[in-house]
Amino acid sequence: MNREIIADEVPPPPRRGGIHIGLLYPGSYAESASALGLHFIMGAVRSTPGCSAGRILATDSRARPATLEEGAPLSSLPVVLVSAGWELMAGPLAETLRRASIPPLLSDRDETHPVIVAGGALALSNPDLLTPIADVVLRGDGEEALHALLSGLTAGANRREILDTLSGLRGATEGTRAVCDDGDLPARSAFVTPRSALASMHLVEVMRGCPHGCSFCIMSRRRSGLHARYVPLQAVLEAVPGAARRVGLVGPSVLEHPEIEDILGALGDRSLEVGISSTRASRIDDSLARLLASLGLRTLTVALDGASESIRARISKSVKAGDVIRAARTARRHGIPRLKLYVMLGFEGERDQDIEELASTCLEIASSTSLTVSVGPVVPKKATALQAMPFVPRRTYESRIKLLRRTLGDRARIDAVSWREARDEALLSRMGPDEASGLLASMDATRPFELRRALRALPDP
Ligand code: SF4
Repeated sequence: MNREIIADEVPPPPRRGGIHIGLLYPGSYAESASALGLHFIMGAVRSTPGCSAGRILATDSRARPATLEEGAPLSSLPVVLVSAGWELMAGPLAETLRRASIPPLLSDRDETHPVIVAGGALALSNPDLLTPIADVVLRGDGEEALHALLSGLTAGANRREILDTLSGLRGATEGTRAVCDDGDLPARSAFVTPRSALASMHLVEVMRGCPHGCSFCIMSRRRSGLHARYVPLQAVLEAVPGAARRVGLVGPSVLEHPEIEDILGALGDRSLEVGISSTRASRIDDSLARLLASLGLRTLTVALDGASESIRARISKSVKAGDVIRAARTARRHGIPRLKLYVMLGFEGERDQDIEELASTCLEIASSTSLTVSVGPVVPKKATALQAMPFVPRRTYESRIKLLRRTLGDRARIDAVSWREARDEALLSRMGPDEASGLLASMDATRPFELRRALRALPDP
């Protein structure tokens, strides 16, 4: 099976050579293949003479997890880089290590075990879940750490020297965050595959950081103090290989890139199909909608987040319902027939009237386009202004979903996230290092670790 998976990747992975570095992604192959952070690490390792990269996935059903490329056992690798996107990846990460006979708790390991370095969005939202596991947790941009690690390894640095170098970097110590040089941007796909969640799409980062300050979001510049950085047109175009057919432009607010129309136009000139990871409704006008439709975009994805104008004002979400309604009509006029709307329920002070306002916004949108509403409970994240906000009670959340369904009827499709899954995420997002260590210490080394079952025993957040 692994051979079939690898055979679909273009270009194929280079042959193993020199130091084989593990890239552990605590999710499925399809998710990993659409994770730009993992592609960036893989590209950097592959382009370093004397190093090769081997992916390990949490869904590997073998008793002993091993690299996808070479079948090298996880426990035999000198260094394992973990890319963790969100809280619920902590369980599969611990379970993958357990199956590899690597104690998940750092305090139970010694120098015979791989050096484990963890990064990704989870390192920003709640590093306390990773610090009991990883030798080094890296918050923020990974470029500097990766360069330091790869040059150290190829120069023959030993385990202690590697750990000393990484631990001294900005982002590795509490309260700091690594920021790469502009010249290191953009991240781009190391390969494409039809098996990716974004099938056969070559991903390119067009911006890093967000210009907005939504109070619930870990990307918010208010919290990070960082401003958005936009990748210049030429650098974006150079990151798209000649063989690419589909290109995904990645960033928190892609359409706000100051050169976005030129980027889209140049990709169109190369007859490429283009997808974008986020749409700012207020940016959609006739010219942009026409351009996006000509590039094959068929679904406009918009995050409204708060249910009503007053909730959105409270959470500093500067998107107006009128902008979304206008964007839906404009997009439809130019041949983009669907809109997907993301909304979160359970912000403090939310009432049924807010849901009624959301329903009437949805009905207006649905009058001009095919609408899917993706709804989930807001999960207060530790690294945001809403960290102390109570998590929505189950009854409240479910009654609001019912109200929304009743009002929308068959005019729109509603995809609702389960309250229980969000509860688990909320529990983990508030967890401190001692609780996280306690949870891992409760693992039985002879049995599969079921994080969800362990969380069930805890009181609601
Ligand atoms: S929710 Fe979106 S717009 Fe708001 S800060 Fe986060 S990434 Fe930016």
